[in-house]
Amino acid sequence: VWQNCLEIIKDIVDWQHFKTWFEPITPVSLNNKVLTIQVPSQFFYEYIEEHYVNLLAKTLKRELGKEARLEYRIMVDSGNSSHQPQTVDLPTNNIKLYNNNVMDFPLVTTNPVKNPFVIPGLKKIQIDPQLNPTYTFESFIEGDCNRVARRAGKTVADKPGANSFNPLVIYGGVGLGKTHLAQAIGNEVKKQHPNKVVLYVSSEKFINQFQDHSRNNAINDFIHFYQLIDILIIDDVQFFARAEKSQDAFFAIFNHLHQSGKQLVLTSDKAPKDLDGLQERLLSRFRWGLSADLQMPDYETRIEILERKMKNDGLDMPREVVKYLAYNINTNIRELEGALISLLAQSSLNKREIDLELAKKVLRNHIKTSSKEITIENIQKMVCEYFDVPYEKLQQKTRKREIVQARQITMYLAKAFTKNSLKTIGEHFGGRDHTTVIHSCQTVKDLMDTDSVFKENVLELTQKVQLAAL
Ligand code: ADP
Ligand code: MG
Repeated sequence: VWQNCLEIIKDIVDWQHFKTWFEPITPVSLNNKVLTIQVPSQFFYEYIEEHYVNLLAKTLKRELGKEARLEYRIMVDSGNSSHQPQTVDLPTNNIKLYNNNVMDFPLVTTNPVKNPFVIPGLKKIQIDPQLNPTYTFESFIEGDCNRVARRAGKTVADKPGANSFNPLVIYGGVGLGKTHLAQAIGNEVKKQHPNKVVLYVSSEKFINQFQDHSRNNAINDFIHFYQLIDILIIDDVQFFARAEKSQDAFFAIFNHLHQSGKQLVLTSDKAPKDLDGLQERLLSRFRWGLSADLQMPDYETRIEILERKMKNDGLDMPREVVKYLAYNINTNIRELEGALISLLAQSSLNKREIDLELAKKVLRNHIKTSSKEITIENIQKMVCEYFDVPYEKLQQKTRKREIVQARQITMYLAKAFTKNSLKTIGEHFGGRDHTTVIHSCQTVKDLMDTDSVFKENVLELTQKVQLAAL
């Protein structure tokens, strides 16, 4: 049915729109005239709802008849179950849309047995691992920001339970890849050890399930279910804070699994030592394993992430635009991806090629500091970051070659990109006088003629400053 719909839509929508908005959709199921499709993100869902809902309604009705219904599933972050399913009424065509972001799974196995513990020689149970198949190690770009966590994750996936990273606790701020990496571990285990029982669950879902079972006097069923898991991945354990009873259940499950050589993978938005509201006995268990953090990727890694994403989605845009996005979005990866999608959306909506102009326009919402003026301090920070030189060294009298060069390049860029006088520039470098600044600028120019590596460094830095000034 979905294929037929696509065929119709393809003829109506222009090619670029079709590729951007319809190709990434996957049909999930068709039940009683309810077609469920999976879209890659909330943004997609909103975009499609806003722009293509009538078209979809028409084609669906053509295929399925008047009672056709469309249901969306949003893939973006299955770890975040705070979105309640929502039903949107469409007055014009009466097709109900709802966001089925909450993945519900029953605490039963597809091989139902009353009490799995008393039946000997039981066939391995099957539980849907609740994993998003696109969250893999291959799609998780490695950089300094995540190297330890990624490699520890790989080790865990290779030898679940039989490694010294048990539990593996992955922590870091929002949008930095915790859910992706945790699910990559699950997917990799499934690939390498198909018989292992993997389950991914957010702590919110765990708590909700626990409370349901608690109300129904079925806490034992709840705990038994979780004790069947070989690799248990619990996302965002910070939400356990102050849910005392759930923590008790989690503690019991943790101990059982750990003692049986089963693997635990946990994520958290804070380092375990800063996790207020979690019982000390749990936190001390976390210390048995490894805690590894995720940081914001540096500029190069951000470029790589964008390029990978574009490649996967079959998209293309000028290199300078990629650099612009990577340079300016330094909050988190989710925002980086969000900006990319907005840009695509704007481009396809306005039937306009993606260029720097459009990128600037679109990113005005995404970039925190608008209309930036480049200051000497900005440039100093950029150069220091680029050469990995401590900021204070620029002010000091150090004669070490790298420091001297970094200082000279900074002065050169400050002269080129700010309106400050030579005197003011000199003052920003531990009170050097204007002749030192003149000398530095001249030295940089001379060196660029003779030293090609040096020249490349200066050109790249120049580009960075220019981009930052846009
Ligand atoms: P968190 O759970 O920490 O809030 P997510 O795992 O949801 O963050 O990541 C946000 C987005 O960034 C996801 O789309 C994810 O695929 C992407 N992402 C995060 N880290 C990487 C990485 N190292 N390489 C590629 N994509 C990444
Ligand atoms: Mg997450």
